Amino acid sequence: MSQGLVLTNLAVSIDEKQILKGVSLVVNPGETHAIMGPNGSGKSTLAYALAGHPSYTILSGSKVTLDGEDIISLSPDERAQKGLFLAFQYPVEVPGVSVQNFLRQAYQARFASEPRRLFKTVLEFRKHLQAIADELEISQAFLTRGLNEGFSGGEKKQLEILQLAVLEPKYVVLDETDSGLDIDAIKKVAKAVALLQKKLSLGVLVITHYQRILQYLKPDFVHVVVAGKIKQSGGPQLVEQLEKTGYAALKE
Ligand code: ADP
Ligand code: MG
Repeated sequence: MSQGLVLTNLAVSIDEKQILKGVSLVVNPGETHAIMGPNGSGKSTLAYALAGHPSYTILSGSKVTLDGEDIISLSPDERAQKGLFLAFQYPVEVPGVSVQNFLRQAYQARFASEPRRLFKTVLEFRKHLQAIADELEISQAFLTRGLNEGFSGGEKKQLEILQLAVLEPKYVVLDETDSGLDIDAIKKVAKAVALLQKKLSLGVLVITHYQRILQYLKPDFVHVVVAGKIKQSGGPQLVEQLEKTGYAALKE
């Protein structure tokens, strides 16, 4: 069985308009790949398509496998159970549910098919979560907050990082484009992802049009998407090169 999150010739349309025009990419466990590219090039489309968002149509000839298993026909929940994590797969605002209860439900759903991993009591899960929060330097008070009730951008990211740690995925897709985080928050998120990556041997696909997060979350590979295709791939030095030249040289 071939390991990795493997995209082969991924083509995606939305409202009859083809956005991705054949993206091929292999993210192995423990690797970090950065997807960069100008606005409107299809980066978020890639993230939504991997998430299984119903508005995005995967065109024939596309293949996406997770450790050898085809995931295109799977629902977003099924993809999560296989170990794929997408930062925005959860509803934005669920008033009345605390962070810790939300995370407990997410945990139970993720490991539903592995009964030995389930916590028998609410208290046991909370202990588990408190240890995770400590490790990630997230305050205990955050755990009892109402989910997304007045969360700042940084707090939303903090929740995503907790989700990531709780769900213990194999592969994670982070779409940072609309994050609007300050430098300290970016640093904190990147540090937490790097820590989890080490611990879980995560394969990370980080989609960004800033280079800033990549200073902390060092990519092994960088891919530049232009007009729905990977126009250039390279090592981390490609980030610096793009800083100097911009995307203009890569445009069609
Ligand atoms: P990026 O994240 O790289 O900035 P997106 O994936 O968000 O780019 O968008 C890629 C292209 O798809 C853009 O031209 C955008 O206008 C188009 N697009 C995105 N969402 C929709 C939609 N819901 N309906 C029609 N076109 C869309
Ligand atoms: Mg985007």
